[in-house]
Amino acid sequence: MHCDYCGSDNTRLVYRGMSHKVDTTFGPFDLFRCNHCGSLGTANPPSELRLSEFYQHYEQFRPLWYKEGARSGALDAQYVFYTDFIERHLVGRSWLDVGAGHAEVANKLARTRPNGSAADIGPRPGGLDRTVEYSSVDMNRNGWSESIGREFDTVFSVAVWEHVLTPSSFAHECLSLVANKGRLILICPDYGSFARKVLGRSWPYFEPGEHITVPTRTGADLCLQRQAQMKGIDVDVRVQRLNVGYSVRYLLEVLRLRAVARMLPPTLSAPLPTGMLAAVVTRK
Ligand SMILES: [Zn+2]
Repeated sequence: MHCDYCGSDNTRLVYRGMSHKVDTTFGPFDLFRCNHCGSLGTANPPSELRLSEFYQHYEQFRPLWYKEGARSGALDAQYVFYTDFIERHLVGRSWLDVGAGHAEVANKLARTRPNGSAADIGPRPGGLDRTVEYSSVDMNRNGWSESIGREFDTVFSVAVWEHVLTPSSFAHECLSLVANKGRLILICPDYGSFARKVLGRSWPYFEPGEHITVPTRTGADLCLQRQAQMKGIDVDVRVQRLNVGYSVRYLLEVLRLRAVARMLPPTLSAPLPTGMLAAVVTRK
């Protein structure tokens, strides 16, 4: 069991035989924690084939509270928050959204920031803004950044790092796409967060099989520093806690307080310490 974030082999098993919370046939997985940086890893990660099967039917494996949140528009509060954060940290003109999903962030950003591109597995999302260029890439394959074939002033990725099989390769490929003086922004759950410590297995981002690794702020920092060093580029890495603007109703539903949740309008949002991090890497 090797921590792919900091490179340490000093790890210990913390959960055995865990299945995915919704698709209970997905598993069992044994999860380990790194004694050096505290990040979480999967001792027996799914094969690429099993993973692509899982994502083919992904929508049906979303938890009910997620589906209800999406239907009522409550999830939009988060995407507005992420878009604002990225816009505040954007440098230069060109940008790339890696793992754009249904283009929730790319479409919002495209309204004020032209020169956008997006990349993800599969064909171009139907709803993607017409002005945004699109590349189809498999982020679990080495060398996927080469098929995009150019550099960008800002490269960002929201809630993707924890899904890939090899987070160090993902960081390496993302850094390959950042132009000189450009910036990489990675947003993902933080395994060292207070929310994770309090909620344990009930933490919404504890998703065996789906969230294959989850870094701590130290793990994210060490991983990005190491990959930049391997590439021979000078970088400034800043990893921070992120209090995401969540719909209050959505959060109460996640915590299974549905009766209280239903009394609130879905659009009411508040920044909450649910345990996310943002790594902002600037090329010097
Ligand atoms: Zn580690």
